[in-house]
Amino acid sequence: MESAVGSGFDAAAPRGEYVRETGLDAFYPKLARLGHEERLDAGAVLWKEGDPGDSVAFLREGTLEVVNEAAEAEEVVLRILEAGTVVGEISTDGSNRSATVRAHTPCLILKVPAPAFRQFARQEPEFLERLFWTQVDRVRSLTREVARTHRRAITDELTRLYNHGFFRRRLEIEIDRARETGDQLSLVLFDIDLFKNYNDTYGHEEGNEVLVDVARIMKGIGRRADIIARYGGEEFVALLYGASGEEAHTFAETVRRAVETHPFAEAPGREARRVTISGGCATFPQPAGSEDELIKIADERLYQAKAQGRNRVVA
Ligand code: GH3
Ligand code: MG
Ligand code: MG
Repeated sequence: MESAVGSGFDAAAPRGEYVRETGLDAFYPKLARLGHEERLDAGAVLWKEGDPGDSVAFLREGTLEVVNEAAEAEEVVLRILEAGTVVGEISTDGSNRSATVRAHTPCLILKVPAPAFRQFARQEPEFLERLFWTQVDRVRSLTREVARTHRRAITDELTRLYNHGFFRRRLEIEIDRARETGDQLSLVLFDIDLFKNYNDTYGHEEGNEVLVDVARIMKGIGRRADIIARYGGEEFVALLYGASGEEAHTFAETVRRAVETHPFAEAPGREARRVTISGGCATFPQPAGSEDELIKIADERLYQAKAQGRNRVVA
């Protein structure tokens, strides 16, 4: 099972990110006088999202998992806490639990009532400081995770270009921007020529390598601000903000020529293979007055490029 947050880190971690917070252990003897110890079997719930925040738990032994239970979605393990840390201190301000906490492995916890915990923290500035750094670590790790999740969500895994969904969202935004500012923007749709033949001849894996190479070529030619995305299987799209029809044509021609001359699958003792690409360009606000028209016109021109014999750009 893969959760949105839990994939892609430490392979040893089943889910979630392990967080080790140290330095709080030293305060355990004093805290122990304020609460009582409890044992939890693996899977037992310490508290549920929405429960009153009436206590703090010091994790003495075992590991706890912090879980967000989104309605109608698979739960997300936010993090896994290791022995020597406290959990729940944030909701001792009277708010309810923001996440479910349950035993990941059998646990020994010390439960301290919220008022006693708050008083203790006020009397022990060093404890409060360590608690603060614990929070800083948690925020940092969540921030990293949000960034990672976002990047994964907008990236095409094979080519590392933006994916179709991201492209569509950006197109909408950029069209709005162009409408407001009076700027123009251009779009180029590319499609690899006779790619089915390539796959049939050399296999799907080798075909994938061509897609990766073409993506790299396009990225190398595009400016930093250009949005280059994988539009579909062997189709690519470039969104060139501020580019006139002529500039888009120049860009598309440069890509076409770079692909035509690129030695694909070059290896010692083997002749490089040739691949070509066709393109169709369209520009907003003329002749395309909307997002849909922009795509429609670029697509029609791409079709014309194919009909005229491929390895060409129609602008
Ligand atoms: P045309 O010049 O008219 O575009 O010919 P074509 O063969 O490229 O066009 P068609 O749409 O008939 O075939 C596209 C092929 O692209 C079919 C499919 O095998 C291949 N393809 C699509 N996505 C992928 C992919 O992710 N990896 C690989 N290797 N091939 C893909
Ligand atoms: Mg195609
Ligand atoms: Mg094709």
